[in-house]
Amino acid sequence: MTHKVTLIPGDGIGLEVSLAAKRCIEATGVKIEWEEALAGSLALEKTGELLPKSTLDSLRKNKVALKGPIITPIGGGFRSVNVGIRQALGLYACVRPAKTYPGVKSLYKDIDLVIIRENSEDLYAGIEFEEGKPATKKIIQEIEKYSQKEIRPDSGISIKPISKTASERIVRFAFEYALKHGRKKVTLVHKANIMKFTDGLFLKAGREVARDYAGKISFSEAIVDNMCMQLVQKPHIYDVLVLPNLYGDILSDLCAGLIGGLGIAPGANIGDGLAVFEAVHGSAPKYKGLNKVNPSAMILSGVLMLEYLKEEKACRALENAVKSVIAEGRYVTYDFKSDPDDPHTVGTQEMADAIIQKIKNK
Ligand code: NAD
Repeated sequence: MTHKVTLIPGDGIGLEVSLAAKRCIEATGVKIEWEEALAGSLALEKTGELLPKSTLDSLRKNKVALKGPIITPIGGGFRSVNVGIRQALGLYACVRPAKTYPGVKSLYKDIDLVIIRENSEDLYAGIEFEEGKPATKKIIQEIEKYSQKEIRPDSGISIKPISKTASERIVRFAFEYALKHGRKKVTLVHKANIMKFTDGLFLKAGREVARDYAGKISFSEAIVDNMCMQLVQKPHIYDVLVLPNLYGDILSDLCAGLIGGLGIAPGANIGDGLAVFEAVHGSAPKYKGLNKVNPSAMILSGVLMLEYLKEEKACRALENAVKSVIAEGRYVTYDFKSDPDDPHTVGTQEMADAIIQKIKNK
């Protein structure tokens, strides 16, 4: 069967890592008809829009995409195209496995965690009011009226909506994921002691959903700050973590740090019948065009995509090839080496070539 897949190369290092991933996926022999679509700064240059309608149409039509990272400026400027895609397509669950591969230099061995991050709400809802604007002043007055709390008049405001509906949906997703993947435990991460009506609701909804899985998957809870310490001290006791959007984003990078860095942390954004696969890392602009960065995170996102497409043989072949190249440590990028200037490192495409060779030699 030929799968139709939208390919969004992204920008920054996106072009290089998505090319590497596409080549490696094709080497498995899986039949994919790629439809290339633009988003981010390249789309802006060519179409005047950051997220053209044609890109969203392609995603809705093909229902599966491989996406490179896209720059979001800090502070002012445009809102995140990445968040825009997730919101427009209802990709409510972000799945980020964090697994150590032999050969990776990392503080830990045998880590096998999965982060399930709620993707649609929380402080990422994009409801923000800029300091000094008339609407912000009005919002501040209204909040003061209802909360009897004072807010400094020169404040900016970001809104954190968390609903029962989305909380139940993501926790159920986490339990179903655990069942399907033979996992044993789901840990819900929150800050309900402080944010009683948002994180508190997330926790309450999670506890209710957890009852449906009693006896099948165990359930635990952790406050996010404590969880950060626990993950650094004893990551092995955790299995599947389910978190609201912001904590999920932050802990994804923490978990990437546990397994050797962002260069090997893949991800998937899943909705009802739609999925976009992308690395956890961003567009690392300082490395753009240098053929230097690690393509593994993007290739492993391709592994997740092949699993989603039920191409099990291709999925295993690709993951094993990545594993084997990393374990050998001969054709790997700079971030695998203790000395970043090690003359024996290879570039992005050369590491992809070595992975392709492994697939062909099998
Ligand atoms: P980043 O993930 O792009 O890079 C941080 C650092 O991690 C890099 O400087 C590099 O040292 C390392 N790194 C990242 N990817 C690597 C790879 N493949 N191989 C080796 N090392 C790698 O984070 P940032 O610098 O905070 O963000 C840059 C831009 O990317 C920002 O505009 C941000 O908003 C955007 N971003 C996009 C996405 C996405 O598209 N999904 C995700 C995160 C950040």
